[in-house]
Amino acid sequence: MKPLKIAIAGVGKIVYDQHLPAIRGNQDFELVATASRNHTVDGVPAFKGIQEMLSSQRDIDAVSLCMPPQYRYEAARLAIRAGKSVFLEKPPGATLSEIESLKKLAAEYAVTLFASWHSRHAPAVQVVKSHLNEHPPRRVKVIWREDVRHWHPDQEWIWQPGGLGVFDPGINALSIVTEILPEEIFLRTAALEFPSNRQAPIGAQLSFTDATGTDVHADFDWRQTGEQTWDILIDTDSTHLHLKKGGHELWIDAVRRDLPLEGEYPSLYRHFADLIRGRSSDVDVAPLRHVADAFMLGQHVVTDPFI
Ligand code: NAP
Repeated sequence: MKPLKIAIAGVGKIVYDQHLPAIRGNQDFELVATASRNHTVDGVPAFKGIQEMLSSQRDIDAVSLCMPPQYRYEAARLAIRAGKSVFLEKPPGATLSEIESLKKLAAEYAVTLFASWHSRHAPAVQVVKSHLNEHPPRRVKVIWREDVRHWHPDQEWIWQPGGLGVFDPGINALSIVTEILPEEIFLRTAALEFPSNRQAPIGAQLSFTDATGTDVHADFDWRQTGEQTWDILIDTDSTHLHLKKGGHELWIDAVRRDLPLEGEYPSLYRHFADLIRGRSSDVDVAPLRHVADAFMLGQHVVTDPFI
């Protein structure tokens, strides 16, 4: 089968770290162009903007949109209206309404729209999902604590409205939780800590439940130095599960389990190719909806300025 010709718009950290190796390692794709104001990829035709790329190079099947979420909607519209399938980095946009609009547009133009959640492709996720179908969860504790200075140096967009602050990593945890739990959860209470000089939270405490009364608590913090924590602990009536390292390590009743070897981004691109070839879309906004609920329902607490 001929490879799908793919372009990337918004070349930056995640493109260099993950998208390029995943695309190069997947025979279903051939990278044919980039659209980015300041960044390029060696040996790949480069354009300054997506409009210029789409009008100059028509032989493109799909575009991965990897710019910050506040700038993704316009790019997605242009790509879909040019008949291209679209891969949205997470979070898929700055608002839920943008995604509804893109879903309708993608259906109208009969192209694939994929709202990707890379953490859902961590190797423990499907193993835990199957386990919880047999053993319903009673208590879930999410601890997602990292050092913003280490992971997001000089990323001003992340502190601006729509940048999500600590929910930029926290939404990854929510993408796992919403994938593995058998019941839909909803937010009961939340407290968001905003540095006095910033527009986005640096910490969040969220309490959810579901129709069966499962207790789900999430602790997101961006001020953790030293060892980083991306853990989910789950108690069922008979078992205790511990997902560590963002779903890359799994312990059930203190025994470490073997997991599939495929990485998150190779798995994402394999899924994207399947969607395109199957002429379907995959757009689940549940993680973004929970973040929107937290901004809507959460208590806002002002904390120390972030320098
Ligand atoms: P980034 O490096 O700060 O931004 C990616 C690129 O987007 C920039 O290099 C820039 O390229 C372009 N860009 C920046 N501002 C723009 C604007 N106003 N309009 C158009 N393009 C703009 O960010 P990133 O870390 O790669 O993250 C990008 C997305 O991937 C985010 O949604 C993030 O949540 C997600 N993500 C990041 C990571 C991670 O570890 N960093 C992991 C998973 C997912 P030009 O200057 O060349 O235009």
